[in-house]
Amino acid sequence: MDHLFDGIARYQTAVHPSNAPLFEELSGGQKPDVFFIACSDSRVDPSLITQQLPGQLFIARNAGNIVPSATTQDLNPDGVSAALEYAVEVLDVGNIVVCGHSDCGAMKAALAPESLTGTTYLRAWIDHARDAVESASDDVDIVIRRNVLLQLENLQTYRFVAERVREGRLKLHGWVYDIASGHVAIHNGETFE
Ligand SMILES: [Zn+2]
Repeated sequence: MDHLFDGIARYQTAVHPSNAPLFEELSGGQKPDVFFIACSDSRVDPSLITQQLPGQLFIARNAGNIVPSATTQDLNPDGVSAALEYAVEVLDVGNIVVCGHSDCGAMKAALAPESLTGTTYLRAWIDHARDAVESASDDVDIVIRRNVLLQLENLQTYRFVAERVREGRLKLHGWVYDIASGHVAIHNGETFE
């Protein structure tokens, strides 16, 4: 953990003071325009890959950049649906990005559910990506892309999302980040490019 404490010390003595006006402005509240849903994977950093500053992205991260459909949330809402509701209903963001990534362990697990035997929460969670898998012989890169599109569909099962999308007040975006090259493939409505 020492490298984390060293980092905090450097942040407090060098980084935070050099951005003092920004943090002074942000200390009174936030007004991000983008809700960014990404994987928990340590190699995927939304603010880094989009070069955004604190205050610009409202972020939810979980294994597999998953958004369970609204029908699963009535009894026990999870962190994604709560963050989604806050982003849309309170912060009134104009954009939601679902960002998958190469070499995603969660999507490999979706392809090989037997690898999750013995897990409880993880197995139930990855099950929300089940429809991204058509066959056990699928290419993982294809499953990663299908999963992004599946989660964009799931987003629209939330009434407050569907309404705003219909009215043109909210745009949904599907991305896949490639760790090796840094390339971000963006879905254009038909394909990722
Ligand atoms: Zn992942």
